[in-house]
Amino acid sequence: MGERSNVPGKVIPLVTARTLNAPQALSAGGLSSVRAAAAVLDPRQRRLHDLRISVTDKCNFRCTYCMPKDVFGPGYKFLPHDALLSFEEITRFAKISAELGVEKLRLTGGEPTLRRNLPTLIGMLSQLRTPTGKPLDLTLTTNGSTLVKQAKALKDAGLQRITVSLDSMDDAVFRAMNDVDFPVADVLRGIDAALAAGLTPVKVNMVVKRGVNDHTVVEMAKHFKGTGVVVRFIEFMDVGATNGWRMDDVMPSRDVVAAIHAVTPLVAVDPHYVGEVAERWRYADAGHGGGEIGVISSVTQAFCSTCSRARLSTDGKIYTCLFADHGVDFRALLRDGSTDDDIAALLAGLWQVRTDRYSEIRTADTAKLRKVEMSYIGG
Ligand code: SAM
Ligand code: SF4
Ligand code: SF4
Repeated sequence: MGERSNVPGKVIPLVTARTLNAPQALSAGGLSSVRAAAAVLDPRQRRLHDLRISVTDKCNFRCTYCMPKDVFGPGYKFLPHDALLSFEEITRFAKISAELGVEKLRLTGGEPTLRRNLPTLIGMLSQLRTPTGKPLDLTLTTNGSTLVKQAKALKDAGLQRITVSLDSMDDAVFRAMNDVDFPVADVLRGIDAALAAGLTPVKVNMVVKRGVNDHTVVEMAKHFKGTGVVVRFIEFMDVGATNGWRMDDVMPSRDVVAAIHAVTPLVAVDPHYVGEVAERWRYADAGHGGGEIGVISSVTQAFCSTCSRARLSTDGKIYTCLFADHGVDFRALLRDGSTDDDIAALLAGLWQVRTDRYSEIRTADTAKLRKVEMSYIGG
């Protein structure tokens, strides 16, 4: 893969803190000053705040917009087990990230609940603390297919809340989109199990693809109105290189809001915090706290200016943008005896030179470029 040397026993990353051109905080006062600093900032003053951790590249669904069957079919080679970061390696990396200012961890994939013994990893991550002693915000995105069996164990292990992906309430539409004939009813049972286990607030992600499920947007909103479950409608994105994305397939969030507003009036709500990805709308007839939806407009309204997310792939590469074409290998450092300081220096250095702004500069041509697959680094 190009990141390792062939010198036995020693793995040399091609990109190091040094080749990244001496991050200011390191050159100013050594690593302790990085860790002591309140936050690691990139050149646009965006803070390293969230870490998304992909725990498997495998999935039991073949959503047409994410893992189309013609690419991710029986012959597709998923990562071998020894390529995956172990729970100890993931936890060590998350701990170092927390020392650099990360406060939120989201487990994802592939389908994260397929990773064996996932509650054990959650238990380990739930022990981590920020430099001021707070537990990290720990959540997970799932297709919901295993929640009936797993929700309670995940909660007991320390998971705080959960996001479940569900692309339509129309069974035929949903079965066609997941492309493994998985029924809506089973995801709904998973959501109920998550609510019963206390993994709240439960959020539902619906990717909206024009001509495929856009006619079921209002039904989705209606189904969850007043239940405490917040539905977030996501614009279909040109992630990866296999989903055949075209701008014409994107239903802009403003059209989603307009369609729901026409049936049940909506009122805009302030974000919970700066950099919140979903734009919030509440139901006018429900009063404050009486139910809301969110829209995630990654295509029509870029939110790069506040993007605070790093992504750790299943095999230990860090991507500072969802639309990147390459990541920086940390697995080598996690396995070659490098110290926590070495790893912190590389991560801080990487962030400090980050200039990512893909959604601000997307064109029909950039959409065709080769990018990392969503199922490999998670959403
Ligand atoms: N398998 C889990 C799931 O589906 O929730 C977690 C991984 S999945 C890659 C994370 C999120 O990315 C899901 O909500 C999924 O719908 C979303 N997603 C995948 N491909 C997408 C695309 N092309 N555009 C927008 N969202 C996408
Ligand atoms: Fe699997 Fe999630 Fe991708 Fe669907 S969106 S194929 S459930 S990883
Ligand atoms: Fe962040 Fe990249 Fe998405 Fe912009 S395009 S919001 S930099 S992940």
